[in-house]
Amino acid sequence: MARYIDAKCRLCRREGSKLYLKGVRCDSDKCAVAKRPQAPGQHGTSRKSLSEYGKQLREKQKVKRIYGVLEKQFKNYVNTALNSKGISGEILMQKLESRLDNMIYRSGFAVSRAQARQLVRRGLFLVNGKAITTASAQLRAGDTIKPVSFDKIHVREGFVMPEWLEANTKEKYVKYTKLPRTEDLQEKVDVQSIVEFYSR
Ligand code: SF4
Repeated sequence: MARYIDAKCRLCRREGSKLYLKGVRCDSDKCAVAKRPQAPGQHGTSRKSLSEYGKQLREKQKVKRIYGVLEKQFKNYVNTALNSKGISGEILMQKLESRLDNMIYRSGFAVSRAQARQLVRRGLFLVNGKAITTASAQLRAGDTIKPVSFDKIHVREGFVMPEWLEANTKEKYVKYTKLPRTEDLQEKVDVQSIVEFYSR
């Protein structure tokens, strides 16, 4: 499967915001966005001068990079959202949030979504008791995820469980209790501009 392998911090600087791609480093004072907020390049590139189209383009690139999704799959999520009843932008974010790799990251079982993808491919997680090795697998409210063994999994330091997930500490699993709303997400995203970008 294709994968973006350029320097991760450069992507954050390009988007002008933290995309949380490098685990614990992202919350430290070593974060490149905190140290050098201007866009990469000798003099940086001004974001203020972008056209409406340019802003929408940057916003969708930002979200693709946060979740580690390539254009084809992202477009599939957008089309599903546009063809569903409800608020398209919110449905798009829920599709992204419901990916298994994202759930593992949100549950604190990986330092980044990229690491979560590797762990899934190695068959280290069970969904509702069954081994799943597809990182993009869509989970539904009520589903549970559990590491096959805690020997190879380390719970992320300083991690806070979002309110749409619930940990069962006795049985050692995490339950996806409800779909998140856009405003619940840590990463601030202008979903409407992404919808407008694809509705042109
Ligand atoms: Fe690098 Fe993480 Fe900071 Fe992004 S948020 S610039 S990946 S350290």
